[in-house]
Amino acid sequence: MRPRPSFPVKLTTAQQAPQGRSQVGASGQGPRVQAVGKPAAFAPVQVGREPSRPPVRKAHGTESQAARLAMVRKLETHGIRHPAVLAAMGKVERHRFVDSALANQAYEDTSLPIGLGQTISKPSVVARMIELLCHDRPGKLGRVLEIGTGCGYQAAVLSVVATEVYSMERLRGLHERARENLRLLRLANLHLLMGDGMLGFAKGAPYAAIIAAAGGNDIPQAWLEQLAVGGRLVAPTVTATGQQNLVVVDKTARGLVRTELEAVHFVPLKSGIG
Ligand code: SAH
Repeated sequence: MRPRPSFPVKLTTAQQAPQGRSQVGASGQGPRVQAVGKPAAFAPVQVGREPSRPPVRKAHGTESQAARLAMVRKLETHGIRHPAVLAAMGKVERHRFVDSALANQAYEDTSLPIGLGQTISKPSVVARMIELLCHDRPGKLGRVLEIGTGCGYQAAVLSVVATEVYSMERLRGLHERARENLRLLRLANLHLLMGDGMLGFAKGAPYAAIIAAAGGNDIPQAWLEQLAVGGRLVAPTVTATGQQNLVVVDKTARGLVRTELEAVHFVPLKSGIG
């Protein structure tokens, strides 16, 4: 069994009570949906406040908390401004989602391998994309579809800023790993699906936001159809330049508005399941 990551030693076990899982998808046909659990007792970044943990655990929790706070400060220097996005990035413990050997790099602005040839995006890219989804909306995002669960980190961040998140993964090994990584966080509003995200998840549509963690040559038609009017999609996509750029699509009452942003390097969006 894969060792649990630590930072650099085990963190608080306050979130580690066992819990049940619910399934709301038809098994055997179409993607399987699993709610990950009840709302998390996260370890939010607290500035100038004394965390209310027992002293023996406080030292460990405070250490990763300090690293997250430093990461959040760095995100601000990268131009991330949205308070809810910064708060979510400060809450979710990224070191829990990577291999224990990489835990000490978890709060650096770097992408990291998560197995099966896939990578977890660097924090500045995760924050940038989620900020694009939130843009000038007041309050929480509504229902979000994420394509490419990977290790589940971005899904966890999304679950903090959105009312409901459906996250799809085509590789069973990663789908299972994400479920394991997320189990202890008990996020009742996060649903993991095993399936081909290029088809979207029609049962959950329409979505206020769709975010892809893998890049294709085009934006799949299903995503555009499943996006709500007033909704926004952010996906790395190959553009006319021949390189991959972040592409934003806004679905307005008058049609789709596409905006191409900076160049990025994401793993490929693939069809089918593996
Ligand atoms: N958001 C992830 C990043 C994972 S990397 C994280 O926080 O870890 C991108 C993921 O997209 C990979 O796990 C890859 O298997 C997955 N992927 C690629 N094509 C896909 C598809 N058609 N449907 C679902 N997942 C896909």
